[in-house]
Amino acid sequence: MGKRERIREITAPLLCWYAKHKRELPWREDKNPYHIWISEIMLQQTRVEAVKGYYARFLERLPSVADLAGVSEDELMKLWQGLGYYNRARNLKKAAEMIVQEYGGRFPDGYGELLRLPGIGEYTAGAVASIAFGERVPAVDGNVYRIYTRLFADGSDITQGKVQKSIREVMAEAVPQDCPGEFNQALMDLGAVICLPNGTPLCKECPVQEWCLAEKAGDMSLFPYKPQKKKRKIQDRTVFLMEYQGKYLIQQRPPKGLLAGLWEFPAQEGRLSAEQVKPLLEEWDADFEEIELLGSGKHIFSHVEWHMLGYLVHLRKLPRKLQEGMVLSSVGQIQEKYSIPSAFSVYLKEIFARSKEGATLQE
Ligand code: SF4
Repeated sequence: MGKRERIREITAPLLCWYAKHKRELPWREDKNPYHIWISEIMLQQTRVEAVKGYYARFLERLPSVADLAGVSEDELMKLWQGLGYYNRARNLKKAAEMIVQEYGGRFPDGYGELLRLPGIGEYTAGAVASIAFGERVPAVDGNVYRIYTRLFADGSDITQGKVQKSIREVMAEAVPQDCPGEFNQALMDLGAVICLPNGTPLCKECPVQEWCLAEKAGDMSLFPYKPQKKKRKIQDRTVFLMEYQGKYLIQQRPPKGLLAGLWEFPAQEGRLSAEQVKPLLEEWDADFEEIELLGSGKHIFSHVEWHMLGYLVHLRKLPRKLQEGMVLSSVGQIQEKYSIPSAFSVYLKEIFARSKEGATLQE
């Protein structure tokens, strides 16, 4: 049986399973394209359970495309804080501005038009167009690659563009005319709850088990095949929580590159000992009473790992001239106003724990 026939055969049992077992999700309560779009962007790299809270807060504050187009970058970053990949949020705003300017605020309803918007790739355009507008287009992401390669015991290197393209082509033909949105969502759910990425897939409960060649061969873990990644670069950093009268010095990161435009605690390359820290603080004109070692923190980005060592520096007085872009911020402002990325969460927890103000805000 060819691939196209096999996919055609699984369509009915898959849709039947979806009708009975589909997940109740807030963004499935209606077919509003704005809601679907926001949820899909949030779900990239973040678990469904974690996204629900962000999604509710985001829509409460920005209920329409026009609201998103008009929001300030600072407030947007605050709403996004913790989801990571902040360029996604910036692209949401850019796309919303384009929808307001070029489409008069009406959400574009065709796959091709959606693809023109910043931050919307083939998967997201396919998801929005098929679910909200019933357009017969696929939504192929990692879930579909996994199900597909297992179904056909296909050991091709899934990281290669041409392999992905050929899967998208087969899936595009497979999307049924009458219920494209349900078909795509059925695959999303199958990948999320049955054909699991890590650990053992729940093949006994799978509606397409009968057609699955990987399951017949008995080794589902071989698919999809991905060659080993290059090791991430390790960057050692020393992070300074410089406290003055209960407030902390923070600074804005450069507008380009990793964590662009977000706020951080001042830091220095390398893991510095307490003895090495003192001359550096003098160089920064930081008159201190005491330095406390806070311990290590680690954050993994896609290509880099930060291995951090933190010091809490109690300042006697502020440096005469603060470094460019540096501000003295209360714990409340750090929580409410400035977006400090989760890479620093170990040190954020530390200052929240030490502050009465932070403890109240955290509750
Ligand atoms: Fe995935 Fe198992 Fe279903 Fe095959 S039978 S698609 S491996 S869950």
